[in-house]
Amino acid sequence: MSSVSSSPSPTPPSSIALSGTLPTIDTVLLNTMSETITHIVLFKYKNDISWSDFEAHFASFMALKTKSLHPVTGAPLIKSLKAGKNRSWESFNKGMTHGFVLEFASQEDLDYYLTTESVHLQFSRDAKPLIEDSVVVDIKDGVLFGAPAEHPNLKVPGTRKGTCHCQGVKWTAKLDKAEHVLCHCSTCQKLGGGPYSCNQIIPREELSIVAGQENVGVYKYKGASGKFVSCYFCKTCTSHIYHHQDVMPEKVIVRTLLLDGGEKMPATGEIFAEGKLGWVQEIKNSLGN
Ligand SMILES: [Zn+2]
Ligand SMILES: [Zn+2]
Repeated sequence: MSSVSSSPSPTPPSSIALSGTLPTIDTVLLNTMSETITHIVLFKYKNDISWSDFEAHFASFMALKTKSLHPVTGAPLIKSLKAGKNRSWESFNKGMTHGFVLEFASQEDLDYYLTTESVHLQFSRDAKPLIEDSVVVDIKDGVLFGAPAEHPNLKVPGTRKGTCHCQGVKWTAKLDKAEHVLCHCSTCQKLGGGPYSCNQIIPREELSIVAGQENVGVYKYKGASGKFVSCYFCKTCTSHIYHHQDVMPEKVIVRTLLLDGGEKMPATGEIFAEGKLGWVQEIKNSLGN
């Protein structure tokens, strides 16, 4: 009468029996297929911040989990978020007192969160005055080799990477045309120690320092207009990265020869030509090529 006791117990699938013998291969394959990015952030806070500032900062970080949203789906960009005070009794924290561990479904989601998503960008601006130092590490679980993710700016056509001589500072700059404009002014000659500098004027937001911001120094002088010019350079190797003139605040002047591929760009214009050294005009002939 009863059908309950008569059903046979199911046979375990063979994969369960195998999983004990081949865990490493299975795990590696699974992990390399996953697009999930774990974004690890550690903060060292300034000594003089108030408890209420810290609490507000912490609460707004935690709120990103629901407020930082995907531009298409409207779903939260952050798949998971864990955060708290460092409680390790080992002395390896380098002064980082709090850690945040976030998961994103893909590198694209993380890129959007870091560069574009307005709630997170506002959070970053508010947090900056509180933070003395930070560490950021992004991992794909189980992936041990390969190049770092490309900076999202480099996906924009015309954007190039720039580096100083010691590679301590890295930046991206978007050029409408891959060409140099030569400046023969006496300031460029004095600052650079050469007969002219190679430049292009671009909108301020199209230059991004992507690494080594803390190593960028500034030298200010009064330009011919009477307004200040700020020259930004690497404090270690002195490479001149760009300058900014108060007279055109929305623009920056980037040193085009420091960009990747700069050596292949043609020179198509010049300014302050009256300062051009006599032998610069003949250099091509005098070098015999
Ligand atoms: Zn440098
Ligand atoms: Zn100049």
